[in-house]
Amino acid sequence: MAHPIAPAVTPAITPLSVKAIAPWAVLFGILLLTLLYFVGAEQGATSLISGEAVHEWVHDGRHLLGFPCH
Ligand SMILES: [Zn+2]
Repeated sequence: MAHPIAPAVTPAITPLSVKAIAPWAVLFGILLLTLLYFVGAEQGATSLISGEAVHEWVHDGRHLLGFPCH
């Protein structure tokens, strides 16, 4: 008994608009800048969180990205 092969259905591809992407780009930009702050500048006088926990947690990333440390 032969089974007919169903034709492949390709979903319609709609192009993304800048309007649709803009809020996500802003959100991820803010998240990346926050992460960059914690990796690059969260120590000493610019520290928002007291103690060394954040600095120690991101210490390897700090050296990997070339920020001055110690
Ligand atoms: Zn270091």
